[in-house]
Amino acid sequence: MTKNNETSYPGPSRIHLSAFPPKERWDDWTELDSQAWPKRKERRYQLVPTTCFNCESACGLLAYIDKDTNKIQKFEGNPENPGSRGRNCAKGPATLNQITDPDRILYPLKRAGKRGEGKWERVSWDEVLDDIASRIRKAIVEDRRDEIMYHVGRPGEDGFTERILAAWGVDGHNSHTNICSSGAREGYQLWMGLDRPSPDHANAKVILLISAHLESGHYFNPHAQRVMDGKASGAKLIVFDTRLSNTATHADYFIAPYPGSEAAILLAIANYLIQNGLYNREFVRRWWNWEEYLEQRPEVGDQGSEDKHDVSVSGQEPRSGEIFIETEKTNELDSNKTTRSINMSRLRREENATTSQNNEQKQTFKEFERVLKGLYSQYTFEFAAKESGVDAKTIEEIAKLVATAGTKLSSHNWRSVTSGVSHGWSVARALFMLNALLGAVATEGGVFPNAWNKFVPKPIHTPPHPKMWGEKNWPQEFPLSMHEMSFLLPHLLKDGRGKLDVYFTRVYNPVWTNPDGFSWIEALTDENLIGCHVALTPVWNETSYFADYILPMGLGPERHDIHSYETHDSQWLGFRQPVMRAARQRNGDDVNDTREVNPGEVWEENEFWMELTWRIDRDGSLGIRQFVESRQRPGERLGVDEYYGWIFENSVPGLPEKAAAENLTPLEFMRRYGAFEIAKKIGAIHEQTVATEELEDIREDDVGRVFTRAAKPASLNVVPIPSPDGDAEGRRLVGVRIDGEIKRGFPTPSGRLEFFSKTLAAWGWHEYAIPTYIKSHVHPDNLEKDQTILISTFRLPVQIHTRSANAKWLNEIAHTNPLWLHTSHAARLGVRTGDLVRVETEIGYFVVRAWVTEGIKPGIVACSHHMGRWKTHENGQKQMMATVRLDHEGDQWGLKRESGAGPYESSDADTLRIWWNDVGVHQNLTFPVHPDPISGMHCWHQAVRVRPAEATDNYGDIHVDTAKSREVYKKWLAQTRPAVEYSPNGERRPYWMLRPLKPAREFYKLPSQPK
Ligand code: SF4
Repeated sequence: MTKNNETSYPGPSRIHLSAFPPKERWDDWTELDSQAWPKRKERRYQLVPTTCFNCESACGLLAYIDKDTNKIQKFEGNPENPGSRGRNCAKGPATLNQITDPDRILYPLKRAGKRGEGKWERVSWDEVLDDIASRIRKAIVEDRRDEIMYHVGRPGEDGFTERILAAWGVDGHNSHTNICSSGAREGYQLWMGLDRPSPDHANAKVILLISAHLESGHYFNPHAQRVMDGKASGAKLIVFDTRLSNTATHADYFIAPYPGSEAAILLAIANYLIQNGLYNREFVRRWWNWEEYLEQRPEVGDQGSEDKHDVSVSGQEPRSGEIFIETEKTNELDSNKTTRSINMSRLRREENATTSQNNEQKQTFKEFERVLKGLYSQYTFEFAAKESGVDAKTIEEIAKLVATAGTKLSSHNWRSVTSGVSHGWSVARALFMLNALLGAVATEGGVFPNAWNKFVPKPIHTPPHPKMWGEKNWPQEFPLSMHEMSFLLPHLLKDGRGKLDVYFTRVYNPVWTNPDGFSWIEALTDENLIGCHVALTPVWNETSYFADYILPMGLGPERHDIHSYETHDSQWLGFRQPVMRAARQRNGDDVNDTREVNPGEVWEENEFWMELTWRIDRDGSLGIRQFVESRQRPGERLGVDEYYGWIFENSVPGLPEKAAAENLTPLEFMRRYGAFEIAKKIGAIHEQTVATEELEDIREDDVGRVFTRAAKPASLNVVPIPSPDGDAEGRRLVGVRIDGEIKRGFPTPSGRLEFFSKTLAAWGWHEYAIPTYIKSHVHPDNLEKDQTILISTFRLPVQIHTRSANAKWLNEIAHTNPLWLHTSHAARLGVRTGDLVRVETEIGYFVVRAWVTEGIKPGIVACSHHMGRWKTHENGQKQMMATVRLDHEGDQWGLKRESGAGPYESSDADTLRIWWNDVGVHQNLTFPVHPDPISGMHCWHQAVRVRPAEATDNYGDIHVDTAKSREVYKKWLAQTRPAVEYSPNGERRPYWMLRPLKPAREFYKLPSQPK
């Protein structure tokens, strides 16, 4: 207790706040009932931790379970969680609204009419499981495993379901990542092998954000609080954003560049550091793969003459680089035809070379520095100003500020422009280049590779890699995509690339979330394309209406998961758990199935997947059952207590000891506290010296890569790490020799930070092999005179995609998505706030209200994607869904709003107090697919025409032509460089690159007859 009689909290959060009950009193905590005021009525609680499931940040929550009513009274932050440190955003406590949502789905449902007709009947879990299990078993036995697909929105866990699919031998994992974050991931992976940054904002001198990290962005609450810690310690904050976001309002420098021009600014800052010798020379010399670059440079950019100051393959202006690049397709083995074919031959030679020829090519670092100056000299402040519309003086001031950061530059780009424009990945790549120049990599106040700040414990069973390649999630046109080409699924099915017999959507709503939702409806209603659609979801959503089964799954406090995220330089593990189950077990009751404590027949997914897998292979004859079999009770199915108990006992260093000190088992410890900090201050793993036990019969190549015959030491941390190829004699890459010592290095093919990407060069993209500015699909050169850019990706801080639909506290705060329009733009159009405007895309239009503001770059418009939920029948999230009519004739689709939200009777008296009617407009329906040819990211920004609505237009009207959707899909597909034409080694994808659920290596081989 402090002198003020307040309780301080000294736990892993290491912050002293008075708001948290000390953990010793979590079994019996007393508070005054706020609703009984002014009476001083006491309420007694049992406090049980879990993890929020409303975004990817995985903040800790504490459920306050009333000991008299046995009901959850509220959720607050869990101070034992090292990532969130007891803090939450508004969505965390609003979890209470979700579990008490009167409209939620409580029982398994089967469709009774035609798909999409809105007729449902209640069925038993047994019936559901037997039907789906027999379909899957049949597909496996008949070798139709490519007809099984699991499509996840928010995983919220580390690999559980991927292992279930691996147990089935199915390469059918599909995710939402290519509509979310692949752009940034690709840029980071090209540099450091790992696809996400872990910035140390709290200790930074300068923080540079191309994201709205104080209100959204990745791991935003844990990061936001550390950004504020950094600011409180004197760090300067630079924010790039087209809108005046909440984050921008806290910045020392806020600039609003033309969308897609960010890389030009970042490379101008890089150029300033390079020309003025303000970069960390020692770091660049030791850790960049500059030697590889010098060996390749005649083929990858400067044509052998740095004096030309080339920054692109053309040797003129920075490459126009718009996505529609005409390239001659050549025979890669013919060295006489084009630059590309010469390049391929050179790369092929280099791969095999261990000879004196390469040694002769070895260049000096000084030579590289001279070349580097030439390469980036055209990225002047004036050039960046011309591209971005930001004043050159301001860019120069920002460059000077960045130069002062030294190794304490923390930076982050999440979604934002990298998810908006073609080649958005080049922005994250240019941003990380600043860290790489300053040596602010894995330093205090710098940026760490994410996997170093993450711990994924080894599970009880590890099935082998699937022996197949999923063509419908990994089509060969996108060999370098970061994740599955999920949003193309309807088009791939319409192309005739196979069908799906069992298609699971899990916490995923592609009809609403993805672009081109009407094409999704067309595919989902065609039973020849999708045999059985199973929607695993806690709530109604637009996609579930087109399912055969709707299976009610638990919300955050009703399910188990473990997770670990890169919130700062440490490794920690969080535990999501069904809080009523944990409370009952703590009180001595037996609970063996989470359905016993959840409302209705709501289940949790882990138990569902284990049971389904068991029923697919009841007798074990398919070799599948073993992966969900109990070790304690052979012949019986594994349960979640054994599953997590085993992990916490065997795979989490330090946890068994810590638990024993409190006389608890590791599982009891995690059930009691919900999180465990494994290690603090991980530091610079790349600088670790490789132990001599790992150096057996080593070989070293001409750029210092060291290969060993020693086996990789076993690790309890199975966090996915890229796997660069070994040498031709079967040794594995173990490290790089730097100044005479063998260091661990980075998980890239070169073992160093890759300024030069041999991967891009070898797979047909040699012109982008070094960080480059590329004009995007919405660059002014690519727009018609009357077109502007629509930014459609920003989050509202209190909403989260389709997950927060019936969180009444949040809905009251934010329930509409008007079109942001600058005052000067509005004056030109003759539009005022509240007026209806029509926004025309390539495939249709939507009608929305204008919001006239100074808080956006003039000429650009923006509309949050968080609104516009709809239903066609009675079932739905009534607080935030409009009732609409869908009109459909041939390729023409229309959506008309019939009524908005309004008061209604339910088990929650508050639903009679709903005062809002507007729930926004579903703009994503009018967007065609824009797959980036390299990262595979859907490029969200739209070239649109905005004009006052017509007299017949009504709010929320939508019209789309899906024939035009097909045309746009084909146009973008034509810009890819498919593996079958460009693969340097006959494989579909560079094996070293990350891929969820990697198939066995032999299935990376391209088929002799491509599908
Ligand atoms: S929604 Fe908010 S409280 Fe929940 S995990 Fe995300 S940032 Fe944390």
